[in-house]
Amino acid sequence: MIRVVCSKETYVYNGYHMVKAFYPHEEAASCVEEKASHYISVYFEDGSAAAVAKEEVPGDGVVEARELKYRIDCLLYKKLVSRTGRSLAWGILMGVRPTKIAMAEMEGGAVKEDFTARFVQDYFVSREKAELAWQIAEREKRLLDRLDKRGISLYIGIPFCPSVCTYCSFSSGALADWKDRVEDYIDALLRELAAIARAAVKWRLNTIYIGGGTPTTLSAAQMERLLSFLDEKFSKEHLLEYTVEAGRPDSITPEKLSVLKAHGVTRISINPQSMQQKTLDVIGRLHTPEDIRTAYRMAREAGFDNINMDLIAGLPKETEEDMRDTLSQIERLAPDSITVHSLAVKRAARMGQKKEYPMSPQIGQMIRDAADCAKRMGMSPYYLYRQKNISGNFENVGYAKVDKAGLYNILIMEEKQTIVACGAGSISKRVYPDGRIERCENVKDIASFIERIDEMIERKRKLLED
Ligand code: SF4
Repeated sequence: MIRVVCSKETYVYNGYHMVKAFYPHEEAASCVEEKASHYISVYFEDGSAAAVAKEEVPGDGVVEARELKYRIDCLLYKKLVSRTGRSLAWGILMGVRPTKIAMAEMEGGAVKEDFTARFVQDYFVSREKAELAWQIAEREKRLLDRLDKRGISLYIGIPFCPSVCTYCSFSSGALADWKDRVEDYIDALLRELAAIARAAVKWRLNTIYIGGGTPTTLSAAQMERLLSFLDEKFSKEHLLEYTVEAGRPDSITPEKLSVLKAHGVTRISINPQSMQQKTLDVIGRLHTPEDIRTAYRMAREAGFDNINMDLIAGLPKETEEDMRDTLSQIERLAPDSITVHSLAVKRAARMGQKKEYPMSPQIGQMIRDAADCAKRMGMSPYYLYRQKNISGNFENVGYAKVDKAGLYNILIMEEKQTIVACGAGSISKRVYPDGRIERCENVKDIASFIERIDEMIERKRKLLED
């Protein structure tokens, strides 16, 4: 067990996550000793200090708290680099949205060379990642500039899956356990949607994203009910994108695809994560690589011309060769976009509870191979985010062909537009013209969501009122 002892609460987040990034296989705990001095100390189980980052405030006056925190992060980082002989691709940046920094600098008039030099020098980010952040921010900005100020996005969560993947920390449940409550869930969802439609009438709906969970666990009739209700309640006059995360191939049927097509869905996701049967078995997905190929063919036959596929690098026992084989199978299918995740195992996941931290030492090469594969398929990176406990402290990147980027994915990362989210566990964010963001969360538990729907609606009404 490594102990991360901080003199201020504000030092804990970065201190703890930096230590976890350098020592991914070790258990770590953090605590605060409220002291006037400024430090983060890191101790191993035997009491030996791994690193002490201490910053004195000069006697002549005030150093801003933010500057002090930055200095301590830098000191701790350098000590951990020297102790482990390793560096982190994203340096001292522990937040989930590094491209937001690039976007802010771009909007402030920075040029690429200055930005990348600063990212490398001030935050110890590798040049490769600094350039990636800038490249993505440039593409995001071109897409976001097309949106008008009255735009809004709608997220709808369907929290059921054919089975629960071992790495999953979302609050979705296995369909078999919830099949008797799915109709109740849809009833509650439609009430929430009706309230949102009334409250958001002054805005222009730009994107709809139905995610989860696995939305296609709904039957074709249930899907028809949901999508018809959306048609009835919301104007699609300003709609730029309509995504349904079909997700698991074992939930996709020609009937469901034709419902999606008939209601104007423009983009779907079919997510293999891996094309290796041994891996699919280990991570608790009840389908085969052949099911993925079949679902993909069905979607093309149904007329979908914007299909995304999600992959995960660093899955248990996967080697570089496995990942290369997966990538070459995906290349043969030729999707329009791919999202390449680095495995992130949280405590809430079954894999996390078993304290298996199967970080592959080859993950860096795997994500480089994925980037090369995306390039061969004519795609470029268009959004990026990081997660807590992400393998190797890397990132998740979405790559897309021209005009096939997922606009909603960018909006959720850059927080430039209000997103109203409904369904269990969803989080709405209202973005005000001055950049202020107000959040509103729905309860995660499916049964509580159904029972407390009036309260969820009231929260939403307050969020959207002028
Ligand atoms: S399909 Fe996605 S949401 Fe469902 S269990 Fe797997 S990781 Fe979780």
